[in-house]
Amino acid sequence: MATMTTDVLIVGGGLVGVSTAAALVSYGVRRVVVAERDTVASGATGKSSGVVRCHYGVPELAAMAWWSLARFENAMDVFGADVGFHQVGYVVAVNASNESPLRANVALHRKLGIDVDLIGASELRALWPGIATDDLSLAAYEPRGGYGDAYSLATAQAKRARAAGAVIQQFMAVRELRTTADGSRVTGAVFGDGTEVAAGTVIVAAGPWSVGLVAAAGVGLPIRTQREMVLLVEPRSRLSRMVPVFSDLVDLQYSRPERSGQLLVGNSDHTSPEYVDPDRYDNGASPAYLESAVNKIAGRFPVLADAALASSYAGIYDVTPDYNPVIGSVGPEGLLVAAGFSGHGFKIAPAVGEMVASAVVGGDSPVPGAALDVFTLSRFAEQRPLVSRHPYAGAGEMR
Ligand SMILES: Cc1cc2nc3c(=O)[nH]c(=O)nc-3n(C[C@H](O)[C@H](O)[C@H](O)COP(=O)(O)OP(=O)(O)OC[C@H]3O[C@@H](n4cnc5c(N)ncnc54)[C@H](O)[C@@H]3O)c2cc1C
Repeated sequence: MATMTTDVLIVGGGLVGVSTAAALVSYGVRRVVVAERDTVASGATGKSSGVVRCHYGVPELAAMAWWSLARFENAMDVFGADVGFHQVGYVVAVNASNESPLRANVALHRKLGIDVDLIGASELRALWPGIATDDLSLAAYEPRGGYGDAYSLATAQAKRARAAGAVIQQFMAVRELRTTADGSRVTGAVFGDGTEVAAGTVIVAAGPWSVGLVAAAGVGLPIRTQREMVLLVEPRSRLSRMVPVFSDLVDLQYSRPERSGQLLVGNSDHTSPEYVDPDRYDNGASPAYLESAVNKIAGRFPVLADAALASSYAGIYDVTPDYNPVIGSVGPEGLLVAAGFSGHGFKIAPAVGEMVASAVVGGDSPVPGAALDVFTLSRFAEQRPLVSRHPYAGAGEMR
């Protein structure tokens, strides 16, 4: 049987896996292999809405998003490529019932140095001409937010990693992890074609598929696969490409412009999640979702009342019970996990890659205000979920 040896094996060539690989080689780790069972970004990454905002009630996540934002702003220098970052701004709007957590979160963000303002309905209407604000009382505006292209970022990170010596092995599934006979240390993995790979460190960054991979090493990951639908709306009349990304915590819907002039619309209502098999899920929008989303769009954006549906698709979130990722060492020595990003891993991926790589080489977190400890798997067993300091009533997840 063929064998190979590497210092670090990364399982999964999504945005998290390739960002970690790029960081590892930049830290001087010589031999890094990324095994991707399909192509780079073929998982959740390829379907990401790419929203970039720092609005989190978990300070570490806000700090990671803020740190990553500076990289998006300098994408050519940092990633060596245009990653489709459009700085159209980000707005999150609430009604009276959620004004208090909004104010508290904005105060938290300001302490972290994040550029954010509180705005009222008239300022929101100036940013998003024609938006209906009757049921909105307050919003937070991040002028430096916007959206990027997760596929472009992943391919740029893979290219960077490869140029510095990493091996990005596509169409190479990891069949199982290998450990010492007593299970105390990870020793590598075996690929689908039978190739044995010996590795001192294995990082599993395989989204929802991470669960099955680490189970064999005795690690239980509480990650489920949640289907989420996305619509692309074609306005009849011209829509400004500069309307901000809009997070609507009343209608529980988010939207952002597309370069094409269309509006991308996604769901933020996680009260009845649809759990699916990540290998077999419906890629279209259900009639019930379509009807509800279209009604919300027409209500919030009267200028789009006669718009047409251009297309729809569905992607998957790898969700944990607290909608925050598991990052760090698990189970046998040498094994790390970076998974469970729960639908918000794009905006923090540059920070995650650097933080995981730094942990592997024994360094401190390179991101001020964010250590990996809070993402530990043990938080679930210890009943210390990682949740917002200032949660929104009815919209607690992901922010
Ligand atoms: C519809 C949608 C909208 C989103 N919108 C946003 C957003 O607006 N903002 C934001 O911040 N985040 C967003 N996200 C989340 C973000 O895109 C993800 O958190 C991020 O891309 C996840 O990257 P990942 O590398 O963890 O996972 P993935 O991209 O899923 O990568 C995992 C990879 O592992 C591979 N793999 C699986 N099993 C194996 C195996 N046995 N061997 C080898 N490889 C394997 C898979 O093929 C896959 O490529 C969204 C996600 C979706 C689906």
